[in-house]
Amino acid sequence: MVSYDDKNRYAINRRTMIEMHLRGRGIHDRRVLNAMERLPRESFIGKKYASSAYDDNPLPIGMGQTISQPYIVALMTQCLDLSGSEEVLEIGTGSGYQTAVLSELAAKVYTIERFGELSEQAQASLAKLDCKNIEFTVGDGSCGWSEDRQFDRIIITAAVPEVPEPLKDQLREGGLLVAPVGGQYTQELVIAKKNNDCLSTETICGCRFVKLIGQYAYGE
Ligand code: SAM
Repeated sequence: MVSYDDKNRYAINRRTMIEMHLRGRGIHDRRVLNAMERLPRESFIGKKYASSAYDDNPLPIGMGQTISQPYIVALMTQCLDLSGSEEVLEIGTGSGYQTAVLSELAAKVYTIERFGELSEQAQASLAKLDCKNIEFTVGDGSCGWSEDRQFDRIIITAAVPEVPEPLKDQLREGGLLVAPVGGQYTQELVIAKKNNDCLSTETICGCRFVKLIGQYAYGE
């Protein structure tokens, strides 16, 4: 149970996050800012770290994984340029916070997580917020969604040495993919657009993510 005082404190901290860490650093997509102002990030983090929910930092979520820093969540979502009609594939459900942001801004979200325990926690957090347009799977997201289908947008929330081939195939013509691409410790955040079956990429900034572990990504 969250007390009235805690709720107020979280709301004030959330507002500060929007102004200082997001708008103050160039996030301008109103839909992204509004979604992140509505969503309680503290609900995706264990009690131990809840008081830091609106610091601009990644935080531990168990299984050696992290919830991404709010600025990076906002930046990656802004790069996806969502209008509301898209089907989005997310690789790396983690806490489910990025999933929640996507679920507010897209028609449907398909999300894959390697750890069953994290997927279950995320499903519980998202059910409490009544997010209904999400399908969850546990497995190796570097191999793509298990059915033979394509998506308007793909977001990879862990580091890949290069964009996995199955994900290139599952991106629709004209679609956008956002991912941290590079080494195990530092990467570049890239946006890739699919035209005539080829990806043209643009680098946004440097970043640091945990590794995507899988057949078309890193080994353990
Ligand atoms: N966006 C998430 C959030 O808001 O909490 C943070 C994601 S965390 C940085 C990266 C996630 O990718 C971790 O939960 C990790 O277990 C998951 N992961 C790593 N390799 C994976 C794979 N091959 N398939 C699916 N998920 C994977």
